[in-house]
Amino acid sequence: MAEKCVVCHDRPMKFRCMQCHKTVCEQCAFRIEEGAFCSRECSDAYSDRRHAEPAGASRRGGGLRSVVKLLIGLIVLAVLAAALARAVGWIDLPWLPGP
Ligand SMILES: [Zn+2]
Ligand SMILES: [Zn+2]
Repeated sequence: MAEKCVVCHDRPMKFRCMQCHKTVCEQCAFRIEEGAFCSRECSDAYSDRRHAEPAGASRRGGGLRSVVKLLIGLIVLAVLAAALARAVGWIDLPWLPGP
């Protein structure tokens, strides 16, 4: 037997509230980008909780930033390695500013 929507007690559940885990149907669900909720209050509470946790809230941006940081680090490392290789005469890199 399928669980029913706790809001209208009529239609079968479609989503589970990400805040209180109640079951809601498609018509009653309060949907935002991150997911579905049984009410606007739950959506607000969920957003507040996310914003209250800096680590959790910025996980997506922070992750991207660390990837960019890692890439920049790798590029710097590669340029340094190329400069070193050129300095010791292993390879010839005309595009690299020489000493
Ligand atoms: Zn409903
Ligand atoms: Zn809820």
